Amino acid sequence: MHKLCNVDVLGTEYTVEEHERKEDESLENADGYCDHTLCKCVVRIIEPDKNSLGNLEAYKKKVIRHELIHAFLTESGLNCEAEWATNEEMIDWIAYQFPKLLKAFTQVGAI
Ligand SMILES: [Zn+2]
Repeated sequence: MHKLCNVDVLGTEYTVEEHERKEDESLENADGYCDHTLCKCVVRIIEPDKNSLGNLEAYKKKVIRHELIHAFLTESGLNCEAEWATNEEMIDWIAYQFPKLLKAFTQVGAI
């Protein structure tokens, strides 16, 4: 386990950690997860091999964004009753597109 940082999620402090799959059963079928009961987001440590993505650092950042979006939605009270807020496709879309959204919002002075 390697702690990357702390982050404020709507007034609740979360930690962002890297774990190896072999040390964390929750990563058995995932590259990351958000545990709101422990206020932490975890990303799997991926060692590069012949089958891995070419830019693992960019992928890791996308996974962290994805898990933090879960944290923000959960801390908003939207973790189980709101179907849209637990839709993985929507969460992944935000995680992928957020850097482009931020760039556009900044470009037009809307931030
Ligand atoms: Zn997810």
